[in-house]
Amino acid sequence: MLCSRLLLFTSKIIMEGKSVSLTQKYSFRNQKKKLENLTSTSGNSSVTNVDDVDSKIKKENDVSDVKSENTDETIILKNAKKAQSGRKRKSVKVSYSNDQDMIKKDKWEPENWNIVLDNIREMRKDMVAPVDTMGCDVNNDLNLTPEVRRYQVLISLMLSSQTKDEVNFAAMERLRDHGLTVDNILNTDDDTLGKLIYPVGFWKTKVKYIKETTKILKQKYNCDIPKTVEELCSLTGVGPKMAHLAMNCGWGVITGIGVDTHVHRISNRLGWVQKLTKTPEATRIALESWLPKDLWKEVNHLLVGFGQTICKPVKPDCSNCRNKAICPASQVKSTKKK
Ligand code: SF4
Repeated sequence: MLCSRLLLFTSKIIMEGKSVSLTQKYSFRNQKKKLENLTSTSGNSSVTNVDDVDSKIKKENDVSDVKSENTDETIILKNAKKAQSGRKRKSVKVSYSNDQDMIKKDKWEPENWNIVLDNIREMRKDMVAPVDTMGCDVNNDLNLTPEVRRYQVLISLMLSSQTKDEVNFAAMERLRDHGLTVDNILNTDDDTLGKLIYPVGFWKTKVKYIKETTKILKQKYNCDIPKTVEELCSLTGVGPKMAHLAMNCGWGVITGIGVDTHVHRISNRLGWVQKLTKTPEATRIALESWLPKDLWKEVNHLLVGFGQTICKPVKPDCSNCRNKAICPASQVKSTKKK
């Protein structure tokens, strides 16, 4: 009798030491029996011996313990205790970044480009550049029919390569006086056309290009210009810069940045390209990779005029440039360093 009482007392101490309640112990035994029966009847190969069964039951009990901690009653009790203690939880604001934000973060853009652009806007306000009065984007007659106006925009762009705005403007004036329409140019002989556009750069080649392109416009486009960059680029003597500007000035559609020699040079000086670029087309691709699209139209006109007045090809006027302190190519800054 004494022995059995001692045994009962010892087992109770052991159980308490393991923090196992009697209810849990009985539940443990019941589950163990159930699984043993299941093993013998179903022949489940995954439960092969008692130790396996024990560990499986233990796992199940562990899971049920975790589950029981999160019952509604437990949560209500926990909340009640918190309310009694008078402590309030601070609200935590969780913000999620979407894919666009992530892309924006990863995207390269030049340092201070907004400041540099604002500075150029300010400088351009104070001086009129040739492009402001004679550029292809302002030099077109709105009284003409849309088709003729677009044709003249294209011819002006074709003449503009390697040619100053002043020279191009004068040639366009002579062509307009002569009659700058598809039919009239097709009826004009090459010598006369040459004399009309001289002295624009590469004028002899441009006579051929204008004639060939005008013929295609007559045959394929009903005397109008095509409405896509690809078709425009397929015309003789029309490159990507002209095509994007023709889409903008002719059709009012922004398809890309018009990068001429000024935009190409200044973009490289300002560090607006991740690596120095060798061609205007490479510069266009580099600029379009980071410059917001709503600035594509503005940036061409802005930089062309800036290049004609301050950031000139030879001897840029760095000392009078608002960007002299932050421009990587500033000659003022490099002089100070020495
Ligand atoms: S500091 Fe000189 S090189 Fe740089 S943007 Fe101004 S004029 Fe051009």
